[in-house]
Amino acid sequence: MSVDLCPDCSKCASLCCVVFAFDKSESFAIDKAAGEVCPNLDDCGACRVFADRDRLGFRGCITYDCHGAGQVVTQEVFNGRSWRDDAALTERMGAALSVLRQIHEQLLLLDAAGNLPLDDDELRHADRLKSILAPGTQWTEQNLATFPLADTRRQVEAFLTGLRRHVSGG
Ligand code: SF4
Repeated sequence: MSVDLCPDCSKCASLCCVVFAFDKSESFAIDKAAGEVCPNLDDCGACRVFADRDRLGFRGCITYDCHGAGQVVTQEVFNGRSWRDDAALTERMGAALSVLRQIHEQLLLLDAAGNLPLDDDELRHADRLKSILAPGTQWTEQNLATFPLADTRRQVEAFLTGLRRHVSGG
């Protein structure tokens, strides 16, 4: 099953501007608690300083990539609902985003590995890992909360480590 790993902010409830905490640093100009709406986010879900984020000290917003998890959490897991409609959803949406983003990150790594000259066993192995990460059923809060993230990440890492011969000639 093919999963869209590109963010579509038009289908997301601005989750990355709300659910995560920022620490004032070279990446963020302000401190912000998890669940607190960024003061730069307008009521329509647009960033008021979008074009100036780098200059104004919000470099972290430029480098962050949800890998397409934001729109899935908003549209699929929460059926288009938003923390704007119900503040109690903020933490729940954040928890779902945190897991699904890591799942999409693993899929991205496997996609990149697909550019290597994999043999049949390796292709089968990659497909098996992808089917764990993209089971083809609807994501819900429950199945995200119980997803075996650490174990699957270990399996992906072991698989990728085994591909070194393709890039190092070793
Ligand atoms: S600065 Fe803009 S992009 Fe960054 S979190 Fe705030 S609203 Fe979102």
